[in-house]
Amino acid sequence: MTDRYASFVQSGAGRAVAKRLGLPDPPRLRRYSPGDPLLPGPALVGAAEDGRLAESVTKILTFAGVEPRDPAAGTTAADGTPQRYGALVYDATGITDSTGLRQLYDFFHPHARSVLPSGRVIVLGTPPAECSTPREATAQRALEGLTRSIGKEFGRGVTAQLVYVTRDGGDRPDGDDLSAGTLTSLESTLRFLLSGRSAYVSGQVVRIGAGTAAAPADWNRPLDGQVVLVTGAARGIGAALAKVLARDGAQVVALDVPAAGDALAAVANEIGGTAVQLDLTAPEAPTRLAEHLAGRHGRVDVVVHNAGITRDRTLGRMDADRWDQVIDVNLSSQERINDVLLERGLIPAGGRIVGVSSIAGIAGNRGQTNYATSKAGVIGLVDSLAPALREHGISVNAVAPGFIETRLTARIPLMLREAGRRMNSMAQGGLPVDVAETIGWLAWPASGAVSGNVVRVCGQSLLGA
Ligand code: NAD
Repeated sequence: MTDRYASFVQSGAGRAVAKRLGLPDPPRLRRYSPGDPLLPGPALVGAAEDGRLAESVTKILTFAGVEPRDPAAGTTAADGTPQRYGALVYDATGITDSTGLRQLYDFFHPHARSVLPSGRVIVLGTPPAECSTPREATAQRALEGLTRSIGKEFGRGVTAQLVYVTRDGGDRPDGDDLSAGTLTSLESTLRFLLSGRSAYVSGQVVRIGAGTAAAPADWNRPLDGQVVLVTGAARGIGAALAKVLARDGAQVVALDVPAAGDALAAVANEIGGTAVQLDLTAPEAPTRLAEHLAGRHGRVDVVVHNAGITRDRTLGRMDADRWDQVIDVNLSSQERINDVLLERGLIPAGGRIVGVSSIAGIAGNRGQTNYATSKAGVIGLVDSLAPALREHGISVNAVAPGFIETRLTARIPLMLREAGRRMNSMAQGGLPVDVAETIGWLAWPASGAVSGNVVRVCGQSLLGA
């Protein structure tokens, strides 16, 4: 589905009209193509006194082809023009009490207008639960207010995120050195958040814990050789997902209902994957799927539970069938499939489970009690399963899409649809590929220490914020 208003405003004449009338001005977002540089300009890298991550971050950026700059270099370029940056990255781990928060102002204030369109702001902190004192925990928690506000303030497609990096598992007794898995996942996370892959992700808090992670031989093919199952792959987000994962090197097993067989075959053929026609709610579905995966591949490295349905009615008007179907497709079938795949040892160490929730599961939505219940359940599944599977080296995460331009949202009445599209920091709906890229990052072998996260792909929607 196309957003005609955004196309109009992105034309020169349209922009002038929108500006004169004070209408929303959706920016053209920077989206990823293989081989793109990570950023459109250098990154300014700053750190609070005694920050423990700036050195690692500088190394990661340099290795990824980004030029890190020091704040001491000032605000003007060599030719006297104001210096522009592709990203501002700040290591705030050294902030140990509220008075230290002043260092944030000192870093960001002089450079607040220097970020290029679709640039990035990333603040790194220590998870408050791991802080040594209540004051340190308070200051680290405060970082969230800064990043979420920057996401709303900077505009022009600039995103802002907070990344909490564990102190656990370090090699030194004080825990200040990162373990190899945490460091690799910090790299995978920075590569995702800085790149155009994260175009529609903003205002998020990502937690990187201790865990094992494997860097790819080629960061342009971060899923090389991985066997990935995508449910609901015949169309919409699932079809985009199958294509993105295959582009990144995965062998994709694309699953959908038999009625969607033709569309599913087209997706599978396009990407050289295989198609499985199966209704996930059928009683024999988990065992049939397990047998297929065992027979064809001997394992499944990544399971993406994307299939989902809506059967909207206000609660008083909802028949029991609508309730049951939605809970079964969107939640219970995922649990049954996880159970069988795990019992049979088909998800190996280093495996990934990624669920698709929704901002309706966070904020609730009128007419969607069944859907929001199922999608909040997906978050519950992440919360309960991630700690249980950590010792097996399997990560569990979910994405929570906001307004994404698909058939599902095309059915929303016009005025509601316009409101849904514009009520976010990007003033536009996201694309299926934005959700797909985010799931891709969570699926990478390099992201193993990213577990237990629910990452919204919603352009920083006001709903559930
Ligand atoms: P879609 O309806 O276009 O695609 C869903 C796919 O799942 C379809 O191909 C369908 O055939 C398949 N499916 C449904 N029931 C199935 C079953 N029992 N067995 C196997 N396959 C089944 O939807 P979409 O917009 O691409 O959404 C994908 C996921 O993203 C869903 O979980 C949805 O709830 C979630 N989501 C979408 C949006 C959005 O704005 N589009 C927002 C939030 C969350």
